[in-house]
Amino acid sequence: MTLDGAAAAAAASPGPVVMTDPTPAGRFGEFGGRFVPESLVPACAELEQAFRRFWADEAFRDEYRSLLSSYAGRPTVVTECHRLGTQLGVRLLLKREDLAHTGSHKINNVLGQALLARAMGKGRLIAETGAGQHGVATATAAALFGLDCHVYMGATDVRRQEVNVFRMRLLGADVTAVSSGSATLKDAINEAMRDWVATVEHTHYCIGSVMGPHPYPWMVREFQRVIGDEAREQCRSLLDGSDPDVVVACVGGGSNAAGTFAGFAGTRARLVGVEPAGGAAIGKGTAGVVHGMRSKLLQDDAGQVLEAHSVSAGLDYPGVGPEHAYLDSVGRATYEAVGDAEVLDAFELLSRTEGIVPALEPAHALAWVVREAGRSVPRGSTVLMTLSGRGDKDVAQVMEMGRG
Ligand SMILES: *Cc1c(COP(=O)(O)O)cnc(C)c1O
Repeated sequence: MTLDGAAAAAAASPGPVVMTDPTPAGRFGEFGGRFVPESLVPACAELEQAFRRFWADEAFRDEYRSLLSSYAGRPTVVTECHRLGTQLGVRLLLKREDLAHTGSHKINNVLGQALLARAMGKGRLIAETGAGQHGVATATAAALFGLDCHVYMGATDVRRQEVNVFRMRLLGADVTAVSSGSATLKDAINEAMRDWVATVEHTHYCIGSVMGPHPYPWMVREFQRVIGDEAREQCRSLLDGSDPDVVVACVGGGSNAAGTFAGFAGTRARLVGVEPAGGAAIGKGTAGVVHGMRSKLLQDDAGQVLEAHSVSAGLDYPGVGPEHAYLDSVGRATYEAVGDAEVLDAFELLSRTEGIVPALEPAHALAWVVREAGRSVPRGSTVLMTLSGRGDKDVAQVMEMGRG
């Protein structure tokens, strides 16, 4: 580590807080919990029991690990960005979730949940999706396991993401366009919950991020911690046994960030989550209850959930996982916001300097690194950034915006 890097590490709070299990009630500090209609309490309890049992079961873990390696393509590599790192004056390492099957980290979670659904004897998966990425991942896992699959998507999103809708149908899923409310992600979540109430006997609700009622935020983080656990080992071998000074990931619901942070919370690394300026649930939101959990969210004075806006549809979620609200409240992680213009610059920058076209979501994390390199991230620091997905899905949109 260079002198500057060491100074940065010493300045970073080591934090006694590691990411442990939530309380029995599913709380992370004052956040989390299980705020669902009476009719869904047994389903959440059954899921929690099954997760506790199977996650402690070596045979289940082995099958999960073997799926991750033989199907999803894990472990994903860590790539050092030599040209961009030199330009920014930092050592920049990317955890390459863009190389996982279906092009993002979402596969880690859906494979875990599909295995669990099968173990619980449920033959049907339902899911909500905004940009369509989680719907595609769920439809993929359902096809692999021979499960029925039904995806709820806001009607507005269905129009905006027609290729992903086709992809889900190609994979054998039914897609329902939800026209209520603003016809976007939050409405799709409400509709999926409604389906689950009526079908809990044979249906598993596959939530796509570290959100929703207990045990989802915890369970999804555990399915995603493979990102951070792998990255920590990989960093140690690249950095002669030390950990990075800064660990950064983008935050929509917060699953790729939670999985990444889980591997590094016990180190001295500074943990940073990056939100879109138009959907900064932690930066600009307030505490409240939404979608089964207590967390921070964008809401008006009457408690009406507001719409989130960003150049990246995958980050357009007005809430955030409760564990992030907690990590923020105790100061173990900080959350920063970046604007669309910086994000588009970062999207082009990584493409040109490293030959890697990132998804617009992780381009948020990179935009923050670019802005802070030489400032709060001193020259010579080592930065591990999770590249949560590849940019193929975003190329046409960026082209239409006249960029690139
Ligand atoms: C869905 C998605 C995200 C946002 O979800 P998180 O739960 O916050 O990780 C980020 N990056 C990519 C590539 C995605 O597909």
